[in-house]
Amino acid sequence: MIGKINHLGIAVQSLTQSEGLWGSVLGLVKVGEEEVAEQKVRVAMFKVGESKVELLEPTTPDSAIGKFLDKRGEGIHHICFQVDNIKKALEEMKAKGAPVIDQEPRIGAGGHKVAFLHPKGFNGVLIELLEE
Ligand code: ZN
Repeated sequence: MIGKINHLGIAVQSLTQSEGLWGSVLGLVKVGEEEVAEQKVRVAMFKVGESKVELLEPTTPDSAIGKFLDKRGEGIHHICFQVDNIKKALEEMKAKGAPVIDQEPRIGAGGHKVAFLHPKGFNGVLIELLEE
């Protein structure tokens, strides 16, 4: 059901500063940047083979990423698994007792269908499901 790790999400204070590290120092190639207004976040995607690194900068302090930074500082925020059929995957995981944040898939960065699973169900790790 889960095909691959689509990306790792990393919370950062400043995209501008972080892009220098992930882009220039590590040499990753940026493949996109956009603001996801609904999530109050600005994201930059860097390609790593078949996967990506997603840098997330809050556009307001009261956003989910802003609160995460306040509480835990910069660092890995979520892991994103790619699935073939997100609606089906979400229903199956709910049936198995997975705590979900999104009852239904919604549109996330890149226009893809996404849904988040609560970290309390997965050893403290926030999980994003994504259908391309
Ligand atoms: Zn993500």
